[in-house]
Amino acid sequence: MLKKAAAVLVGLLGVAAIVLLIVDFDVIRHWTAIHIGSINESGPFYGFWSGFGSDISEFAIAVGIYTGVRKVNCHSRRCWRIGHHPLDGTPYHLCKLHHPDVPKGGARIEDILAQYKKYQDTQGSAVSSAPTAKKATAARKAPAKK
Ligand SMILES: [Zn+2]
Repeated sequence: MLKKAAAVLVGLLGVAAIVLLIVDFDVIRHWTAIHIGSINESGPFYGFWSGFGSDISEFAIAVGIYTGVRKVNCHSRRCWRIGHHPLDGTPYHLCKLHHPDVPKGGARIEDILAQYKKYQDTQGSAVSSAPTAKKATAARKAPAKK
């Protein structure tokens, strides 16, 4: 009941504000013209570009920073850290706090070697049967049989 009364009151205030804008529009237009810099200046667009128009580039900088931060930060919801670690099998990049394979408090050499061993085990025979760089160079140096 109280929420409904508050909503009705806000609606009535909104209607009153719109009516006041319609009745007294010249004052609002003049205030806006002064504050965006399009009146009382030496040229028709000098006031705009030296006033409100100069803020366009600042807005573009702010949007660029936001976009850059949004692209590189952790894809976990509301996490502001940088997502350095891609999560295998997904398009997501996570921070060291949210990635399941990154140990908390920093990786020790044992953790790094365990991950490398796990990688080698998942590669299985593909790694062992793949030609190594040493074998490939030896094959290249061998004389061709005629
Ligand atoms: Zn995170």
